Amino acid sequence: MSVFSAPAYDQHELVSFHTDARTGLRAIIAVHNTVLGPGVGGCRMYPYASDEEALHDVLRLSRGMTYKSALAGLPLGGGKSVIIGDPHTQKNREMMLAMADFVESQNGRYVAAEDSGTCVEDMHTMSERTSFVSGLEDNEHGGDPSPSTALGVYLAIRAAVKHRLGVDSLQGVTVAVQGLGHVGYYLARHLKADGARVLGADVNQENLDRAVTDLGVEVVSTQDIVSAQADVFAPCAMGAVLNSETIATLRSGIVAGAANNQLATDEDGHALQERGILYCPDFLINAGGIIDVHHQRIGSSNAVKYEHIQRIETTLAEVLKRADECHTQTQRIAEQLAEEYLTAAGNLAAPLRAVG
Ligand code: NAD
Repeated sequence: MSVFSAPAYDQHELVSFHTDARTGLRAIIAVHNTVLGPGVGGCRMYPYASDEEALHDVLRLSRGMTYKSALAGLPLGGGKSVIIGDPHTQKNREMMLAMADFVESQNGRYVAAEDSGTCVEDMHTMSERTSFVSGLEDNEHGGDPSPSTALGVYLAIRAAVKHRLGVDSLQGVTVAVQGLGHVGYYLARHLKADGARVLGADVNQENLDRAVTDLGVEVVSTQDIVSAQADVFAPCAMGAVLNSETIATLRSGIVAGAANNQLATDEDGHALQERGILYCPDFLINAGGIIDVHHQRIGSSNAVKYEHIQRIETTLAEVLKRADECHTQTQRIAEQLAEEYLTAAGNLAAPLRAVG
């Protein structure tokens, strides 16, 4: 299949491929849309099984950033980059500097941030060669945006619980968290502080132990976490967790988590609606991280940043209300709202297609 006809291509403004024989760097930068501002998004390093898989991932993620930033009211466009390789065995300083040169060559249309497989230290290395990086220890968590992502997801869970169960507090509410890494851990902490019972699973024993010891999270096996008896299922590990196999097994009435691209296909959003499960669109509720990165870039106070993150709750309430009124799946309503912002802002020629 040619790149232009790939479903995930979806009117991308720019897709750039780069190899550097000296360092072994193989990378792709994708900029989906810059109507609202430069394409800001994470630089992910992952051992993709094929180049096609890497391309598909970067296109989907970059498009998702367009929607996420638009819906969060940020003056930012959608972009993402991927480095093909294992961050544990192949990443080194020279490679990150070569990646920085690649980012610099895009003249600011793409601004990198940390992502899965990269960290704040890598962003510092890259900043030696390009100014188009963000998330450089300019917040109270050493630049890590995950606590802000977790805060946004927690506020969304509260809004969804209020919408569905009509209660203002999480006392007596059970949340099953899949993945207790950077975001999942902070999310579990907010939930416990609010009185929720938290079930958790992780393939990484260290992360699991930390959540049990520090927070009193109750362990569920990784096989059983999706179908755990809970009020809310919070995916905070990987994408495509909501698919034709898992949706039938869900026992939670609400799905609200941080993972990107939780729906494997558009049909899965419909399947959740059919089952009466309230799905909180991932790109809406996990925007706390990009909001944090934005405020780090412009040097805002914490108060300004937190006020902005709190708006996720209001936007979600609006999406849930419209979805109820139109009997339409929440994902589609959230996309429509983002498209309204983009169209109002500029030259979005045609509505963006949903991508499975
Ligand atoms: P992370 O790598 O720190 O944490 C993910 C955790 O999930 C790890 O502890 C990992 O061991 C665990 N995990 C992996 N596979 C699992 C499985 N099958 N079952 C249970 N646990 C499993 O990543 P993170 O930064 O916490 O991000 C979590 C998700 O949220 C990712 O999908 C990421 O793309 C998305 N996200 C993160 C941010 C952010 O600010 N970090 C922002 C937006 C979206």
